[in-house]
Amino acid sequence: MPNSDLLMRFMFDQHPVRGELVRLDRSVKELLRGHDYSPSVKSLMLDLSCAAALCATSFKDGSETMLQLKGESGAPLRYALVNIRADLSFYGSAALEQGAQPAPGGAPLLSLCGAQGILALTVFPAEGERWQGLVQTDPDSVQNTLEHYFMRSAQLPTSFVLLHDPQCECAAGLLLQVLPDEQNAALSLEHLTVLARSLTGQEALKLPFEEILQRLYAHESVRVFAPLPLTFRCNCSAERCLTAMSKLTPGELGELINDGGTSMTCQHCGRSYQIRAAQLQALLKESS
Ligand SMILES: [Zn+2]
Repeated sequence: MPNSDLLMRFMFDQHPVRGELVRLDRSVKELLRGHDYSPSVKSLMLDLSCAAALCATSFKDGSETMLQLKGESGAPLRYALVNIRADLSFYGSAALEQGAQPAPGGAPLLSLCGAQGILALTVFPAEGERWQGLVQTDPDSVQNTLEHYFMRSAQLPTSFVLLHDPQCECAAGLLLQVLPDEQNAALSLEHLTVLARSLTGQEALKLPFEEILQRLYAHESVRVFAPLPLTFRCNCSAERCLTAMSKLTPGELGELINDGGTSMTCQHCGRSYQIRAAQLQALLKESS
């Protein structure tokens, strides 16, 4: 697959609109590995990963951007999240409520999140306070939900095309966004979006980026930038496990020491960390 795990930005010479193309293969396979996601959750994670990659570059002050979906009370989806850093490394996971099964068929996001689901977009700047924007989930797609968000909250009209193949566990996406403070960009965006929506899954997942742009925008002058690599990288570590363990009470630590140690499994990547009794003993000593 050409241009796998890459994101490429582009600009139009005749329109105040910028664009991005992304294709995820190995990185998103790593994100899905070890999780026994149902088909609808797997599709959601493929879309959410592409969306996070496309959003990450929209917030230039962001050192990390997190896209998180939550179902309404009683809905099957407990959460789905993808967190992406400024270097375009990302991780994430999803979980359904105990015993919950989304109804097959019907609008995909509605059956997972209910009518009152929420998408939260959180930016953790390198410096300063984090900020968060919220938008109600669209019944159909992450793509529509994000378009509502950028229109209403960010006042920055943006179009998304998200396509994936759950069998091959790969995904691709395209973003078009008006440049800030540009008047009369709406018509340009509309025109370029109509063309973008003609992109098929086969083209999005298989063709080199430049050929996609050639097919969609043969009559436009498009400038492309050097593609940037995307990787899967979790945030778990032995140190983080010990930090979490240090929040336990002396009594709880004592029980684990008596058990001869314990293990912790990362909810995102499934990696397991063994914590020895001697390490717990040291934590107990520090806390007393
Ligand atoms: Zn992990």
